[in-house]
Amino acid sequence: MIDINKVRNDFPILKETVNGKPLVYFDNAATSQKPQVVIDSIVNYYTTINSNIHRGVHTLSQLATDAYEEARIKIQKHFNAKKSYEIILTAGTTHSINIVATGFTSLLNKGDEIIVSALEHHSNIVPWQMLCERTGAILNVIPMNEDGELVMSEFDNMLSSKTKLVFLNHVSNALGTINPIEEIIEKAHKFDAAVLIDGAQSCPHIKPDVQELDVDFYVASAHKLCGPTGVGILYGKEEWLNKLPPYQGGGEMIEKVTFEKTTYAGLPHKFEAGTPNIAGGIAFGVAIDYMNEIGFDNIAAYENELLEYATKKLLTIEGLKIYGTSKNKTAVISFNIGTIHPFDIGSIIDKLGIAVRTGHHCAQPIMDFYNIPGTIRASFSFYNTFKEIDLLVEALKKAKMMLS
Ligand SMILES: *Cc1c(COP(=O)(O)O)cnc(C)c1O
Repeated sequence: MIDINKVRNDFPILKETVNGKPLVYFDNAATSQKPQVVIDSIVNYYTTINSNIHRGVHTLSQLATDAYEEARIKIQKHFNAKKSYEIILTAGTTHSINIVATGFTSLLNKGDEIIVSALEHHSNIVPWQMLCERTGAILNVIPMNEDGELVMSEFDNMLSSKTKLVFLNHVSNALGTINPIEEIIEKAHKFDAAVLIDGAQSCPHIKPDVQELDVDFYVASAHKLCGPTGVGILYGKEEWLNKLPPYQGGGEMIEKVTFEKTTYAGLPHKFEAGTPNIAGGIAFGVAIDYMNEIGFDNIAAYENELLEYATKKLLTIEGLKIYGTSKNKTAVISFNIGTIHPFDIGSIIDKLGIAVRTGHHCAQPIMDFYNIPGTIRASFSFYNTFKEIDLLVEALKKAKMMLS
């Protein structure tokens, strides 16, 4: 059970007002808010142990290194990676995907095939297109249906011995659809294709187990699960990380440097050139502890109630259409009201203190599928309330009246 009053008390921003109204924050799919413990850990780091890691002999450097490496171990346990060095700390999901997409340049040949899904975020489309341009590999797309679900029979038809890589998100950020990744991983592995799962949108709601999934790569951003911006993970199976070349050259990622030849450091440092976001990494560990204390089962159960309640209430507004109607979805509702432009509605309800996202949500192909310019997206978190959903519905009715 979620103790909603206690939880809300943990997030100082939820006491803020926006445009003179109490903040109702329904843009959690873009980034989550941060609990005080996470904010405190950043302040504490800079106040007490700030120094550069992995190189100093002095005490502060040791303390900072220990705190950073402890965070890596927390993250490893949370995702259930076999080894802590299979967790590469990056700047976030986009950075992680680019490390893999760039690394595969040397592993692909002309005519090899890559499969992505129609439900992807631009960050999971563009790097693969660039990879195909570099290598002559071919990009295939698993299509979606009207409910916003992947058409799995098409995936079956696409798989062949030419398939080298399959990339898709676990949860679509635009529609909330939960994709059948277990089935996709199993089928791709029958053809020896590697699978990368983008967990940016699923991680805040579903605790993944990378070993049980048997996934080859898994990426996520801390800022969507109560952590800071500018930090995230690339999980890779050890054998895969060893096959990929480093992404950036620099300090920290080398074993030995001469002007004739440089040899690279082992994992994870091979992929961690330069001074990382040390405070961010430590705070990511704190965020994971915080969310595990609340419990992912509790989070999922409560958010499902919010989703059901909000879906029912929103559908009482005449002319409101929800995009993404899969039975398997997280607490994200993408919708439009009649032909009113989503931006106009978003602007009016912002004046009433309600934060939603409008637009294409970095997923233009999905909007093209539905033949719409964009949607209004309300995305819920475990610190939202039923009362806030009532406020959203009232505000939407008001906006609708003003605009039609
Ligand atoms: C947010 C998001 C990303 C991008 O994450 P960044 O933190 O901006 O790098 C990628 N994929 C999905 C599904 C997302 O929701």
